[in-house]
Amino acid sequence: MNATLFDVVIAGGGPVGWACALAARVSLGKRARIAVVERDPLPVVGAGDPISARVYTVASGNLAWLNEHGVQIDEPRSAAVTDIQVFGRDGGDSLDIAANDAGQSELARVIEHEALTLAIALAAQKAGVALIAGECIALHEADGARTIELADRTLLQSRMVLAADGANSRLREAVGLEVSRRAYPQHGVVANLRCTKPHRDAARQWFLPDGSILALLPLPSMDGAPAVSMVWSASAARAEFLCALSDTALLAEVNAATGDAAGVSALVGATRSFPLNLLRVVNPVADRFLAVGDAAHAMHPLAGQGVNVGLADARCLYEVWQHAPDVHGDSGHALLLSRYRRQRYGPTLAMQLATDGLFRLYNQTDHPLLMAAGDAGMRLLGRLPAFRRTLSTNALQ
Ligand SMILES: Cc1cc2nc3c(=O)[nH]c(=O)nc-3n(C[C@H](O)[C@H](O)[C@H](O)COP(=O)(O)OP(=O)(O)OC[C@H]3O[C@@H](n4cnc5c(N)ncnc54)[C@H](O)[C@@H]3O)c2cc1C
Repeated sequence: MNATLFDVVIAGGGPVGWACALAARVSLGKRARIAVVERDPLPVVGAGDPISARVYTVASGNLAWLNEHGVQIDEPRSAAVTDIQVFGRDGGDSLDIAANDAGQSELARVIEHEALTLAIALAAQKAGVALIAGECIALHEADGARTIELADRTLLQSRMVLAADGANSRLREAVGLEVSRRAYPQHGVVANLRCTKPHRDAARQWFLPDGSILALLPLPSMDGAPAVSMVWSASAARAEFLCALSDTALLAEVNAATGDAAGVSALVGATRSFPLNLLRVVNPVADRFLAVGDAAHAMHPLAGQGVNVGLADARCLYEVWQHAPDVHGDSGHALLLSRYRRQRYGPTLAMQLATDGLFRLYNQTDHPLLMAAGDAGMRLLGRLPAFRRTLSTNALQ
């Protein structure tokens, strides 16, 4: 078998895969051989390009970590979040968390998937990470290593393989990790909208009487007007209906659902819809193998935490790999992997339980008592300092 030997090979160059590559590069040192294998070309983001509809609310703590390691976010294409407001089905303000609660100037920034991925990829490549264009199709055992097979039959041998190839991870399947997966009875409908009213850097979310959840996240101004990113999590039928509406009809739906809070006035670009899943890998660790990001855990976007939990995976690897010299620099040593598992198990599970619990609490549409309990519960939780701290701290991770 004729294969190149790497210290870490990452299958999948999404934001999490590239963040893990950067973590490996920084913590394992310049002599380590790190590569990302990605089947699609790197995203191209031009200064004048419209903002993509696929955006993330990236927590300040994750941004600070990325920035510390050379990632430069294109500020004019991103927007600050200083306030998170949640409204219950009765229209009341259930939760309001300000950056001040956490003693910060910002809670998060809204950044496009493409711009985030590109910024991390550029920093990682500048630091010496190799990009290999190709599709990972299989994983083989090797002595003290693993061998990844690409679709063109190229073989890459590595002491450590990370699967960062998304929720339908092919490598996770190849290793046979046990997965628990539940499709939410909702799809996420996303679109960018121009508004007549300023967003004041607030990320706002409405739990609506039909069980759907509508978020409007701040975006940089478009053509001189305030703009927001819409993420409307709705039943498959309602999502299809929303995507089929004319621009004017969709804007009317949004304004009706939010009490005209943003005064949305124009659709910019196309509306997109994506399926929502709760996915949990029972144990993301195998011999010289680890699943990270959506390949290990996907969750409902109602708390905007999916990509943040993935970036936290990368930060944990960064900490864990600092201890590689204790195991003779072996990046895939079982001791390092079990330390990673111990550290990430609790926080990941807690975030999945919290988002799933909130979804279930609010997805009661046919039982008035349970519906009222959902609103009252959120209001009560919103008053508890510990809960507020947890939410704002998680938003900052
Ligand atoms: C269509 C869509 C829209 C979404 N929109 C939103 C949104 O608006 N807001 C939000 O919060 N979340 C959204 N999500 C979820 C969000 O994208 C994920 O939580 C986030 O991307 C996780 O990052 P990741 O790097 O783990 O995985 P991904 O971003 O999925 O990256 C996986 C990467 O692996 C590559 N890959 C896959 N298989 C292989 C292979 N066999 N070989 C090589 N490369 C491979 C893919 O091309 C991709 O680049 C969306 C997801 C999808 C699918």
